[in-house]
Amino acid sequence: MPRTPIVAGNWKMHTTVPEALALVEVMRSALEPITTVERVVCPPFVALWPLHERLRGTSIRLGAQNVYSEEKGAYTGEISPLMLAGVVDYVIIGHSERRHLFGESDELIGRKVRAALAHGLQPILCVGETLAENEAGATEAVVRRQLESGLAEVESLEHVVLAYEPVWAIGTGRPATPEGANAVMGRLRELIAVRYGAAAAEAMRILYGGSVTPENFPSFMAMPEIDGGLVGGASLKADSFVALVRQAAATT
Ligand code: PEP
Repeated sequence: MPRTPIVAGNWKMHTTVPEALALVEVMRSALEPITTVERVVCPPFVALWPLHERLRGTSIRLGAQNVYSEEKGAYTGEISPLMLAGVVDYVIIGHSERRHLFGESDELIGRKVRAALAHGLQPILCVGETLAENEAGATEAVVRRQLESGLAEVESLEHVVLAYEPVWAIGTGRPATPEGANAVMGRLRELIAVRYGAAAAEAMRILYGGSVTPENFPSFMAMPEIDGGLVGGASLKADSFVALVRQAAATT
C-alpha cells in the first residue's frame, strides 16, 4: 500500500490571528482540490480555534505545534491534549526548538506522545541531530535514542508520524542532501521494523524537515523513504506552501 504523503506547515511563532486567517484563506482554494496529499497547517495556539472554524468541512488538516503531557492542573502557560482534542488532528512533538531552546527532555517528549495518542491526536514526532553530533558521527545514535524514548510507551504506530529534521538544517537555508536524509530515514524505518514489525514500518510515514523549498523539495520527494515534508519558512507564504503540496501530489 503506498503511503499518503503529508506536507505540514509549522508556522512557529509567526502570524497574528487575522494574519493566520488571511493566510489560510489564500491557501484554501488552491489546496482543497489536491486530495492525494494530506495538507496540514500548524499555526500558533491562539489561531487554532478560528482556523478550526474556518477549515470546518474542508479536507485541510490542522495541527498544534506543541502539547503538554498532562490533562489539567497547575501547569501555568501549558495547553493540554484534552483542550486540543476535537480542535486539531495533528500535534508536533519534540521539535528541535522545543528540545534545545526550551530544554524538553527525551522522557518528557515520550510522555507527550503518549498523552496525545490517548486523546486521539496524531503526533508528528521530530527527531534530529545537532551539527556537532553530525560531525562526531553520532547521527544514528541520536535519532535512535530520540525515537526509542519518544515511542517508549507507544504500542501501535497507526496514528504516529515521524519527522527527521537535522537541527543544522532547520531555518539555515542549508538542507541535508536528499540521499543523506533518505539514509537516516531508512535506518529509522529499520529500527521501527525491529520493534513493531515490517508491516508497521512499511506503513509509517516519515517526513523530512530542514530548509525545504519548492526548489529542493522534488529531490527529497523522489527518495523512497521520504513521505513528505515538515516545513517552516516556506509554509508561511501561500505560493510556496501550495507549490510544495503540488510537488508532493505529483509523486502519487
Ligand atoms: C521546521 O520548523 O520544522 C523547519 C524545518 O523549518 P524550516 O523549513 O524553516 O527549516
